[in-house]
Amino acid sequence: MKITSLDLRRQYESIQDEINNAVLEVIASQSFVLGPFVESFEHSIAEFCYAKHAIGVSSGTDAILLALMACGIKNGDEVITTPFTFFATAGSIARLGAVPVFVDIDPSTYNIDVSKIASAVNKKTKAILPVHLYGQCADMDTILEVARANRLMVIEDAAQAIGAVYKGQNAGTIGNVGCFSFYPTKNLGGYGDGGLVTTNDDELAKFIKILRVHGSEPKYYHSYVGINGRLDAIQAAILSVKLKYLNEWSESRRWVASYYSEHLKELSIRLPKIESYNTHIFHQYVIATTQRDELIQYLKQQGIETAIYYPVPLHLQKCFEYLGYKEGDLPESEKASRETLALPIFPEITQKEQNCVIGHIKNFFTGR
Ligand SMILES: *Cc1c(COP(=O)(O)O)cnc(C)c1O
Repeated sequence: MKITSLDLRRQYESIQDEINNAVLEVIASQSFVLGPFVESFEHSIAEFCYAKHAIGVSSGTDAILLALMACGIKNGDEVITTPFTFFATAGSIARLGAVPVFVDIDPSTYNIDVSKIASAVNKKTKAILPVHLYGQCADMDTILEVARANRLMVIEDAAQAIGAVYKGQNAGTIGNVGCFSFYPTKNLGGYGDGGLVTTNDDELAKFIKILRVHGSEPKYYHSYVGINGRLDAIQAAILSVKLKYLNEWSESRRWVASYYSEHLKELSIRLPKIESYNTHIFHQYVIATTQRDELIQYLKQQGIETAIYYPVPLHLQKCFEYLGYKEGDLPESEKASRETLALPIFPEITQKEQNCVIGHIKNFFTGR
């Protein structure tokens, strides 16, 4: 059986008329950038996340960039983050001339190891940028504690964690600012690029809104150099339709994840660990084994697609050579990049398909 990592067509087909009508409505209105569709979406998603402010932006990457800019991060400042994440997390820091300072991960959750953050703080440190990887929040209490003690800003990269909850608080509303992505493959995905910044801070919200329109307020008067970072109305209309189903889809993802875990637990592979205080939304279901590459090849031969998030930790990327890291500096991240793989997961995957994936993984380890 052929099984892809993700099948977005099934989701589209289940809400096709609603989506098509929403898109046509935007075209009929001729209001394409920001405007009423974006405002209406911002309102619903602020409610969904229990955030005071939600600001639609052009992508998850620009959400992080705008959040850092609004927090005053500039040339030479240091920002503590994880090396085991999508490039944009650290790319946005470097883009501002600031320095990403990488702290190794906790191998059980793949999130930043909070016990190692305090020792990475120095006079140049301005912010901590944790990532809620695969849909599970980092240990925010410890992060906030270190931030308070050193007067640092906390910017959450919640691109993979929309709807995730940490000790009763929604991802993206725990630190000073939260950043989300609506890239098509994300749990709430648009039909193109899109992103969001959330905050409970009125001043930061106002500043981010100015920065997303080239730093102008009023129009054509620029007190700041901002960016073109707006969300467009067609994406907002599509996302408004999809948002209504998001809790249902997250529930399905959790169910799919628990089915995998239930049926793979006898094998000598590492399964996702959910911290007791977290509600995971399973953007990815990631397992780990020292035979990772052979397992991927074997599954591929059976028609099963898997993916690696991420094959090269950021401290070893060529573009960050100037930061001076070398192999061995952050061993848990390096190990995770060698041993992890993501199994197919999406709300519409069938039990038959899951059984097929599970069966072939069992064959690989025991039956061959
Ligand atoms: C997807 C993602 C981003 C970037 O979002 P884009 O919308 O693709 O720009 C940033 N950080 C993480 C962890 C992501 O998964």
